[in-house]
Amino acid sequence: MDRGLLEKLKRHEVSFHEIDKILDPDTAIKLRRTAVSELTGASLSHTGDFTLDLEKVTKRNIENMIGAVQIPLGIAGPLHIKGEYAKGDFYLPLATTEGALVASVDRGSSVITAGGGANARIFDDKMTRAPVFRANSIIGAKSLIDWVSSNFIRLKECAEKTTRFGKLLSVEPFIAGRSVYLRFSYDTKDAMGMNMATIATDSAVDLILSENDVELIALSGNMCTDKKPSAVNVILGRGKTVSSDVIISTDTIHEKLKTTPSKMFEVNYRKNLLGSARAVSLGFNAHAANIAAAMFIACGQDAAHVVEASTAITNMEIVEEGLYCSVTIPSLPVGTVGGGTDIGAQHECLSILGVGGAGDPPGVNAKKLAEIIVAAVLAGEISLIGALAARHLAKAHAKLGR
Ligand code: NAP
Repeated sequence: MDRGLLEKLKRHEVSFHEIDKILDPDTAIKLRRTAVSELTGASLSHTGDFTLDLEKVTKRNIENMIGAVQIPLGIAGPLHIKGEYAKGDFYLPLATTEGALVASVDRGSSVITAGGGANARIFDDKMTRAPVFRANSIIGAKSLIDWVSSNFIRLKECAEKTTRFGKLLSVEPFIAGRSVYLRFSYDTKDAMGMNMATIATDSAVDLILSENDVELIALSGNMCTDKKPSAVNVILGRGKTVSSDVIISTDTIHEKLKTTPSKMFEVNYRKNLLGSARAVSLGFNAHAANIAAAMFIACGQDAAHVVEASTAITNMEIVEEGLYCSVTIPSLPVGTVGGGTDIGAQHECLSILGVGGAGDPPGVNAKKLAEIIVAAVLAGEISLIGALAARHLAKAHAKLGR
């Protein structure tokens, strides 16, 4: 180890990123880790133990790398899914540190599979980016919106020049006085698409600026809305708008969940619906974010998009056979190429689901992943609502989670 360079790092005479220019990734990582360990007194032996492809991740996924954090990976299933894209039995990879979560999804999967499987369908599919412009007044704002409406084809050509796969679907305008927000929506095929949509929109913005008397204030004006809870995503959708449902028989509910359809109906009604309304929550569900987070982390998705997934709506209705259960996620941004999907372990988890990489035709793998995730969320919801109805929740966490 170059002690001289290490001391310079520790004294901030050389910055963490500068050493990447003179050292190979492995040496640079070790040097930064040693500097942090010596500066803070923290032992970093676990952090330094990993199998990542350094050439790849240091170019695409991380800056100033010092190591990796390991998260336990569990498996739930089989979960039988009757989707348009996901068909058959699936084993669900879940990366989490929350004891009882994998057991809960496993139990819900067994209930759904006993009921013949969960339906899953995609209702909308688009990734959005919404730049904000300042016009001189609302008159200029109206002119810009009129221009966009009559120049959509030119904007589409301009945006699509930047990508082999992305297709511009629409540009929806919103205003706040003289501020104009143009919400660009793209079909991004198997990519989650946030980089793709951003780069394509930047190109379209050049055309807008060259022919309109407006100023671009920011390429993202928060009407997208990326990584924040928002009504616009719940109402208009972002990423995949996806839903899953199943009917569970009264016998299965007695046998596997030790409760009744009417008790589960009432828990869902007073908790997920009335309770969420009283709390003015954007999420009308029990723990959709739990399953989304564990699958996102396992499968190399952008974990910050769990915010969007948390706005799921869970519904339960008593029917002749037992209980009808559904989950709808209005905004589920997921992909099987790009981002963290090509990192070794994450790619392996996608492969467990049969969606490692690009689909044929493009787009089918990302759609399949979305159907699997929403069905997994349904399994988690059924299990947790069942546990609450049977008053098993605290007992399960006492046994498995501590
Ligand atoms: P990306 O890795 O930037 O791009 C996906 C790539 O996959 C593109 O180069 C695309 O080709 C290629 N590709 C190959 N086969 C494909 C197929 N079948 N379908 C679609 N694309 C295919 O990934 P991204 O999904 O656009 O963006 C995800 C990343 O954006 C994540 O790392 C996320 O954390 C990050 N992110 C960025 C922003 C932002 O504002 N920029 C915001 C949030 C998150 P083409 O180049 O020809 O399209």
